[in-house]
Amino acid sequence: MQKLDKLAIHGGTPVRHTMNAGMLRGAMVVGPEETERVAQVMRAQSMSRYYGPDNQGAVSTFEDRLGAGLGMPYTLGVSSGTAALVVALKALGIGYGDKVIVPANTFTATPGAVICCNAVPVYCDMDETLNMDPEDLERVMDDEVKAIIVVHINGHPCDMDRISAFAAKYNLPIIEDVAQAFGASYKGQQAGTFGTINAFSFQMQKIITAGEGGAVATRDFNLFERSVRYHDQGSFRDKDRYVTPGSGLTAGEAVIGQNYRMTEMAGAIMLEQWEKRDLIISSMRRNHRKIKQALKAELPGIQFRKTVDEDGDIGCILALLHDSAERAKQFVEAMTAENFFTYFMYGAKPIYMMPFLLNKKTLEKNDFPFDYPFKKPVEYREGMCPNAERILPRMTLMPVSPIMTDKEADEVIEAVVKVYRGLELV
Ligand SMILES: *Cc1c(COP(=O)(O)O)cnc(C)c1O
Repeated sequence: MQKLDKLAIHGGTPVRHTMNAGMLRGAMVVGPEETERVAQVMRAQSMSRYYGPDNQGAVSTFEDRLGAGLGMPYTLGVSSGTAALVVALKALGIGYGDKVIVPANTFTATPGAVICCNAVPVYCDMDETLNMDPEDLERVMDDEVKAIIVVHINGHPCDMDRISAFAAKYNLPIIEDVAQAFGASYKGQQAGTFGTINAFSFQMQKIITAGEGGAVATRDFNLFERSVRYHDQGSFRDKDRYVTPGSGLTAGEAVIGQNYRMTEMAGAIMLEQWEKRDLIISSMRRNHRKIKQALKAELPGIQFRKTVDEDGDIGCILALLHDSAERAKQFVEAMTAENFFTYFMYGAKPIYMMPFLLNKKTLEKNDFPFDYPFKKPVEYREGMCPNAERILPRMTLMPVSPIMTDKEADEVIEAVVKVYRGLELV
């Protein structure tokens, strides 16, 4: 007993002999179904959604399923989550001279997509949910702000009531960045159905995945058409699928676009991942819930990430809040020694603290697009979002894999209890 209680970091026996599964979710359940679907596309020699001797229509079928699942009439597969954000921003007409509110706690791609559209991000602080703090929105608002990107970080929904109320007050469109939260919901409504136009990612680490891929979803045909055109060099090749006779929808004018098309191979994989979504999410939810409940019972005083809708969380990450940054660091080191993948968000700092974002490093002349003569200048500095800077170094994350077994969930509980007691964290 004595031996078992000794922390691995102090020379004791680790709870696990090898490191547990890391950051992958849908990728962990890829099987012969995905292989067969991709093979179908390949056998048909039709790898592009718009060409091929025997086109399988994998991307368009996936779009239809995603749309039906979300209850969104218009969905478009694209090449990545970053592409989805760019397409959504472009559809909204965001560009040079515009500001877009983004959360302080997000992946680089969120502000990166804004800058790609020649607009600039302004950062809203977060709270202990790790998501955007609606209280801080007024601080960053001015009449140069043209949209809000909300990010449901680590599988937990944002406070959509308050964010939507703010957006309505200023008549701002919302883009939901659902990259980390496919399947999440807020008060029973699915993430990706609140915003004006919403962005999904199917990159390798995301909940359902084709390795790379993304999608946008909207209820607005005009935004959809602009998205389709922008993502496909200005053209709209399968209007017939959407523009039903008598709908009154007319084809808009072509614009200069890019190529952000989803491949048929990605579409084929997504069709199979789509079928597995409930399995993936229900497994993560079950284990996440079980671990949280057991830890609450065993360790009174343990603190988790705050929630706005416990049932809407997809359970892909166990987020623990520690009393200090030092305690959090000790926890990560001790858990790693016990062979549990444990980490901080993006360097334990808000994303604007990344030197390239802080210093506005683009590849353009004169710091374009930051050179725009904004009425209220855009300045980034340490201390800008104090809650994010204070909370993130105290917040540790542990991924929950969809293939986590009951035994592995018990091991997580055992290890966290062992480390909290061993380090006297509670
Ligand atoms: C992964 C991610 C993206 C970008 O998605 P890609 O498919 O990798 O381009 C955007 N936003 C967030 C919050 C992400 O986690």
